[in-house]
Amino acid sequence: MVSLPRPPSAEPLVLSGFMATGKTTLGRAAAARAGVRFVDTDEELLAMARASEGRPFASVGEVLTALGEAPFRALEASVLRRATSTGEPCVIAVGGGALVAGDVRREVLSRCRVITLTASPATVLSRVRSAGAPLRPLLAMGDEELPARVDSLLAARSAAYAECHSRIATDDGRSIEEIADSILRAWQSRTLLMPLGDSSYPILFAGDRPAGAVVREVLADLRPSSHLHVTDETVRRLHGDSVLRECQSPAPTGALPIAGRPLPPVILPPGEREKHLGTLGRILESAVASGADRSSVLVAHGGGVVNDLTGFAAAVLLRGVRWVSVPTTLLSMADAAIGGKTGVDIGLAKNAAGAFHQPSAVVLDLRHVATETPRAFRSGLAEIVKAGAIADASLFAFLEERLTPAAADAESDLRALQTDLAFLEPAVAAAAAVKIRIVAEDPREAGVRALLNFGHTLGHALEAAGDFERWTHGEAVALGMIAAARAGVALGVTPPPVVPRLVAVLAACGLPTKLTGDDLRAALDHLGHDKKRSGAVIKAIFLTDIGRAVIHPLALSDLRRAFAEFGPGPSAG
Ligand code: NAD
Repeated sequence: MVSLPRPPSAEPLVLSGFMATGKTTLGRAAAARAGVRFVDTDEELLAMARASEGRPFASVGEVLTALGEAPFRALEASVLRRATSTGEPCVIAVGGGALVAGDVRREVLSRCRVITLTASPATVLSRVRSAGAPLRPLLAMGDEELPARVDSLLAARSAAYAECHSRIATDDGRSIEEIADSILRAWQSRTLLMPLGDSSYPILFAGDRPAGAVVREVLADLRPSSHLHVTDETVRRLHGDSVLRECQSPAPTGALPIAGRPLPPVILPPGEREKHLGTLGRILESAVASGADRSSVLVAHGGGVVNDLTGFAAAVLLRGVRWVSVPTTLLSMADAAIGGKTGVDIGLAKNAAGAFHQPSAVVLDLRHVATETPRAFRSGLAEIVKAGAIADASLFAFLEERLTPAAADAESDLRALQTDLAFLEPAVAAAAAVKIRIVAEDPREAGVRALLNFGHTLGHALEAAGDFERWTHGEAVALGMIAAARAGVALGVTPPPVVPRLVAVLAACGLPTKLTGDDLRAALDHLGHDKKRSGAVIKAIFLTDIGRAVIHPLALSDLRRAFAEFGPGPSAG
């Protein structure tokens, strides 16, 4: 049986953060509450340095001074590697500079849950001062120089500290036990990280908690001056104002309250037809009229359309404010909400205006999927198939196994998958992980990010030719993927066995796999409008195997010919 990686709560928990943020105290408390081992890498490092140098070092600071920064960091990295490689769930507190080097940080992030503990510079200073002499080597200077030194160290390390699964404040008046509980909750929940330095953000799975409770925590951490919720009428009707209400209600005991006030929500008519500049203007006007400022946060609660509109509004409102995405369709959970592409359509030109603007967090509540129409659910499956096809053969195999051909005949089998969290959670997590890997490498689509457009060249053309009504996005992408796979075979790039596997899994999703000649011709007429065309050559995406894809620059005329001859026309299947 194909199984995807389990929720990572069995991973070691690493507590990182600046000096004096409470890593050791809170790490010890969290480990005791969880009944697991606590490891302080500073203590381990001290023991190793004493043994290897044969000197009675009294503190890590002395080791740093004696060895110098580079050898010290190398020793620290080896201690860290040992501590994080045991495979047992434990809590590990690391030195403030331990994860600053990108290669060490990425290695730790790949096998541990990393939480950054934070405190304001003023708190850090007062904690450092009250600890008394001797000051840590990095702060060995006159007292009057300390504030500037702390500020500059924090600024230099801010991107490294931001690349973590969660950030938890340690100076908000909560007790050690309350903060330790927050740490343990964050460790238990499934969280993925989009690692983009200062623009990093977590993708948080709500699990069995209400999405609103998770959004409330996110907003409390972001400390906005105000928060503006954007949703659409359908989501509002089916899911009420659950997220907004939770964010307006008093914080439960031990939780941080949201500092800012809620602004009157914006509730849009549903659907792609609303994804235009007029709706963008409506969100912006509402935000400005209700007093939003640079530290306001927008919250998108809806499908890909609400997500794209709200993200774009956040990108341009007052030249950019923060935003949080709470996607409600399978498609937006697996794809649209992750990666920071925002925008609106201009006429029939999809996403013709937009911006790259990463959210501050994405909160996934898979229970939303239960209320989607079966057609919308199938459409979302297409993007998950795409993720498997281009970059994750085990996700593809998982889908092949779970989406039996019988499911395509039996609407009820597919319907059952809509509420089957044991299917949805690993599938969405794996698809999101594919998107994260690719976006992290190429946030602004200068290179590999184009791989995510597999199936989208003909897909977008089909959507436009059908006036955005004949095909859903996922249906059009399903047909586009088959066309691209068949064209890839014709061009000698794609191995022939890929095609029947792709067609079978898409059919098992209940997605269309054949086009009429008229539909294909109409789509080909629209192909020239694809915005990814550069001159007469476009970046076509082809599979080189299941789980592997390449960008293959191709003359538009050749691609059209390949689609015309080998696309998912009447004879395909
Ligand atoms: P959508 O937002 O229009 O949602 C489809 C319909 O489902 C709407 O009527 C909506 O009101 C309704 N809906 C939303 N959540 C629901 C729920 N839980 N239960 C029942 N109904 C619900 O469309 P979508 O399919 O989510 O997303 C498609 C959009 O996403 C397109 O505009 C596409 O361009 C965009 N997209 C963006 C990216 C990106 O990277 N930004 C990627 C892929 C797609």
